[in-house]
Amino acid sequence: MPQFDADRDAMLARAHEAAIETVVAIGSGTGPGSLDCAIQLANREKADEPRIYATVGIHPHEAKLATDADFDELSTLARNPKVIAWGEIGLDYFYDHSPREMQRAVFLKQLELARPARLPVVIHCRPSADSQNAWDECLGILAEQWAASGLGGVLHCFTGLMEHARRALDLGFMISFAGNVTFPKAQNIRDAARELPLDRILIETDSPFLAPVPHRGKRNEPAFVKEVARQIGELRGMAAEEVAFQTSQNFYRFFNLPPASNAGMPIPSPSRGAEG
Ligand SMILES: [Zn+2]
Repeated sequence: MPQFDADRDAMLARAHEAAIETVVAIGSGTGPGSLDCAIQLANREKADEPRIYATVGIHPHEAKLATDADFDELSTLARNPKVIAWGEIGLDYFYDHSPREMQRAVFLKQLELARPARLPVVIHCRPSADSQNAWDECLGILAEQWAASGLGGVLHCFTGLMEHARRALDLGFMISFAGNVTFPKAQNIRDAARELPLDRILIETDSPFLAPVPHRGKRNEPAFVKEVARQIGELRGMAAEEVAFQTSQNFYRFFNLPPASNAGMPIPSPSRGAEG
């Protein structure tokens, strides 16, 4: 995102200092024209920065811009070994930046392309104000068009109700919590973060958006993900470090990736066996 053009190196150095081992850079970027942006970031491979993986996909906000050439480009980019998921894709009925009919069509098209690419999907889902409309539709589409693939995915920046999270778990999804889990009004998000099975939770920043308390209102960045771990730890009676360790193990297991070294990290006993 252009919000990091001025200090991308320093931002990644801060993430490394904050013990962030591995980052998934979401490749929706600013839409068609920048569909390889996360792959470029993932190609850095600097020793004093987190390891970076990438996604590719067209966000529902930019659905109205998608062309057949863009879908072809995505299918080609998806073969890059740094690409571990297809997303963000889904439905956003809050902002309605693209007509809903187009959002649905572009979502369905990308599910169709992600299946032969053998990539899990990263789902962005936001209903209209005071509504659950996008949840019902999105989970319905995933049940009908995606569950049988067995590839699953991540409900990113979860903001729904427990029933939505449970339906997603049944479809083989991980539930990912972002900075807004720390916002005073977000009790429904905290309820889900407290009650969901620990081995199905991930943490993220959604940077540059949704900076967690105490950084709220500023630009978000990867180093701030520790505040998400701290909040979930408070809710579940765990140390932030333990949440960090468990969610990291969940990530490596779900994406079938080798764990980073964990050197210098406090390692509590894992609940699901050492191979993660
Ligand atoms: Zn999103």
